[in-house]
Amino acid sequence: MFKSLMMDDYQLTLVQLLERLGTYFPDNDVVTRLADGTIHRYTYRDCYNRSHQLSNALRRLGVKEGDRVGTLGWNTFRHMEAYLAIPTMGAVLHTLNLRLHPHDLAYIADHAGDSVIIADRSLLPLLEQFKGEVKSLRHVIVMPDDGPTPEGYLDYEQLIAGESTDFAYPDIDERSAAAMCYTSGTTGHPKGVVYGHRSSVLHSLTAALPDALGLSERDRVLPVVPMFHANAWSLPYGAALTGASMIFPGPVLQPPVLLDLMAAEKVTIAAGVPTIWNGVLALLDQDASKWDISALRYMLVGGSAAPPAMIEGFKKRHGLDMVHAWGMTEMSPIGSLARVKNKELDAGPEVALGRRASQGYAVPFVDTRHVDDAGTVLPWDGQTMGELEVRGPWVAATYYNNDEQADRFTPDGWFKTGDIVTIDSEGYITITDRSKDVIKSGGEWISTVALENAIMAHPAIMEAAVFAARHPKWDERPLAAVVFKPGQEATKDELNAFLEKDFAKFWLPDDYLVVPEIPKTSVGKFQKIRLREEYGEYLMKGN
Ligand code: ADP
Repeated sequence: MFKSLMMDDYQLTLVQLLERLGTYFPDNDVVTRLADGTIHRYTYRDCYNRSHQLSNALRRLGVKEGDRVGTLGWNTFRHMEAYLAIPTMGAVLHTLNLRLHPHDLAYIADHAGDSVIIADRSLLPLLEQFKGEVKSLRHVIVMPDDGPTPEGYLDYEQLIAGESTDFAYPDIDERSAAAMCYTSGTTGHPKGVVYGHRSSVLHSLTAALPDALGLSERDRVLPVVPMFHANAWSLPYGAALTGASMIFPGPVLQPPVLLDLMAAEKVTIAAGVPTIWNGVLALLDQDASKWDISALRYMLVGGSAAPPAMIEGFKKRHGLDMVHAWGMTEMSPIGSLARVKNKELDAGPEVALGRRASQGYAVPFVDTRHVDDAGTVLPWDGQTMGELEVRGPWVAATYYNNDEQADRFTPDGWFKTGDIVTIDSEGYITITDRSKDVIKSGGEWISTVALENAIMAHPAIMEAAVFAARHPKWDERPLAAVVFKPGQEATKDELNAFLEKDFAKFWLPDDYLVVPEIPKTSVGKFQKIRLREEYGEYLMKGN
């Protein structure tokens, strides 16, 4: 080898991101909407200093390099401080999903070996249900979000108050762990993903690129996506890297509150799952004149498939852009983004919408391929369906202390995503299903995502989820669960007639079940397993 003479041993760590924030962007602001609706506002100078104080306080409590420090909190400035302080003192930030059942939280915090948990005061009733089962837990620190810290707990503010705003960072190896996040499994235990400093830095850098999230120092970023959901899609570290201001929504995520915040704080980028944006669109459709959100550059949407009708609705009726991203907890999370390439910009709105509604093409350093059941790599022809596999510097190489899922990692170094996709000659990925949601009717695959997207384009429909029901003749048939918009309805025949123009007859759902609400997971995705549990036998009963 003719060896490189560059400083290849320079360590990529989150310390550089925190230092960058404090050095170059101290005057940019961080805004939090508190539980009572009041606004907390401070600068990155305060955020930087308080992160150092938190690191000093944790060190005083005995937190050592490699120790796991859990957080149980809404999106707030204190949670941002924890994001910055914990990894840069060499400890591991473990974000706990506050929407999980206490049994799952007990398993996850215990499995991760959390020695400290920093929790919002408003979430203490939840914490108290599981903390006794976390054998490694030594301290609970309370962030007083909605009132004073109760007796018997360490108060975050008191704890950091006397600490120095200088902090002596340890030497951190870029391959050491920085953060952890568990991903829910429908079968087996939750699986822990351990992010490193190097992986987090490289992910943040790539995510910030213009054709990825396009973050800049001038941006004002509202992560509606919770900070416990896959690093809030990289936005906090992306902000540290670029200096973008952060606008944290706190615990209230109702559409009017979000729109108020977007207008008042001149938000330029807002990020959330499709359900959130669907609610915002419905409200704007009622009366858009209430909010001036003209500062908004785009809404980032991901976590599950964004219906084309929603993307088009925002654009056509309100002139607002959405950027659709695909990712996974195991991918830090960003894998691909749906940006229209230059050569297709003039190809007309149909092409543009098709591109924007796809899962897009991979960001740099994420390799993609899709394979059949035998593991044969499939062609990028836009038609052949197979399981998506990925690899790259911020993709998990294994789960934390969990052998149940070892077969998710292939012998030649790829991660099996569990998503069934097509890839076209331009590299655009289209997810047709998660493998566990696939419908096989008489031996043919039917895409639940394609059907849902089409049903949600019907003017009477607010939300629709398509799932497999057992069938005496065809093994499985699609059933749709639908939620109508207020005051609207449609019959099965009308809905099928609406779909017929785009789908073969055998794809059409056997029935439409009107439900008050589609069950959702802890991060707001359709929970089709619950629909299958409830209605899976519906067609066996002669319906
Ligand atoms: P969980 O497995 O608990 O849902 P993740 O948030 O990591 O946790 O989920 C990743 C999965 O979410 C992906 O494998 C994919 O099925 C789905 N997903 C994420 N983004 C999109 C998207 N833009 N379109 C369709 N599906 C998506």
